[in-house]
Amino acid sequence: MNTEVKTVSKKPYQLAVVIGRFEPFHAGHGLLLNKALLVADKVVVLVGSANLPRTVKNPFSYEERRYMVKSFGEMNGFPEGSLYVVPIQDNLYSDTAWEKQVQGAVGVFGAKKVCIVGHKKDSSSYYLDRFPQWDFVNTDEFKLPGLDATNIRNLLFSMVGSITLLKSVVPPTTYAMLEQFVQTEDYQRLVREFAALQAYKASWAVAPYAPTFVTTDAVVTKAGHVLMVQRKDAPGEGLWALPGGFLKVDKEILDSALEELYEETHIDVPPALLKGSITKTEVFSHPNRSARGRTITHAYLFNLDGRDNKPGLPKVRADDDAADARWIPVNDLMKMSSQIFEDHLSIITRLLGL
Ligand code: NAD
Repeated sequence: MNTEVKTVSKKPYQLAVVIGRFEPFHAGHGLLLNKALLVADKVVVLVGSANLPRTVKNPFSYEERRYMVKSFGEMNGFPEGSLYVVPIQDNLYSDTAWEKQVQGAVGVFGAKKVCIVGHKKDSSSYYLDRFPQWDFVNTDEFKLPGLDATNIRNLLFSMVGSITLLKSVVPPTTYAMLEQFVQTEDYQRLVREFAALQAYKASWAVAPYAPTFVTTDAVVTKAGHVLMVQRKDAPGEGLWALPGGFLKVDKEILDSALEELYEETHIDVPPALLKGSITKTEVFSHPNRSARGRTITHAYLFNLDGRDNKPGLPKVRADDDAADARWIPVNDLMKMSSQIFEDHLSIITRLLGL
């Protein structure tokens, strides 16, 4: 792609940066892009959360969102070579690593006069203040109050059968894509996930305070493999996850982690050997790590190298409520980010020091 910025222009900036998830791209996002093109020769749209699986929060792939952005540009007369779309991966436990990606994606353009265009809608927009090297361009006059991607998704997954209500709030090309999307098996799975999450939240609605859940996760590793289970039910139906679950009411955290591990994988390693193989433990508590609500997990690294001296990998067998249990090579796992549940890949990379 020709990203070089060389023309002398009357616009104040050579490059405008727009960051978003665009799940889906709606009319408010369109206004933002129009504003960006008003102030800059080129617009680079950084599509965030590009590495995540399809969930009710992130239902669309990077390619689908790229199409929504690019087709909006085409329909709205963006000059050729003025609109770029780049994927950015989330890094839940390191804003600095995420900012490094953003800096790198923008640096490719070699532009001197750069601005970041965005709408500070709530505390989740904090990232707009993390780039002091670029001017911030206020879009207050370009916002569509009340138009929110969360509400669009809620309607999308609860109005099964007809999505015509959404026609007025998304660009025509996004709408055409939504019409195709609702025909897919992925959509049906997310409708089930949405219903399961709503029921789950409703069951806790009577609690006097928003609940905080405590869970355990086991990262069991041997010979460059990690033991994973494939989820059978929502949330995360079909995704790969670490063996784990909610803290048992009558157990210490470690005993609860071991019990969940045995229940879900039937791993053929005696408890004493497993306990003796713990080399690291860490708490993971990002407020957005789980769609079910605030969930704090205690993760243990069980490193069987040099401790389990039987040749090969220990036998495992999935329990009835899992679709599969499998040893996955670490190299394969690193390429499976779009198939891994919640922040489990971050937990693995952190505990294994990858
Ligand atoms: P979004 O799609 O909700 O919004 C994109 C932009 O559009 C924002 O500036 C938003 O304020 C604006 N907007 C929304 N509704 C509007 C309306 N009605 N009218 C006008 N403008 C409107 O995207 P987002 O969730 O803010 O995207 C941030 C991305 O950055 C996400 O992918 C997030 O995961 C990522 N991120 C990652 C990290 C990390 O991994 N450490 C840190 C910060 C941000």
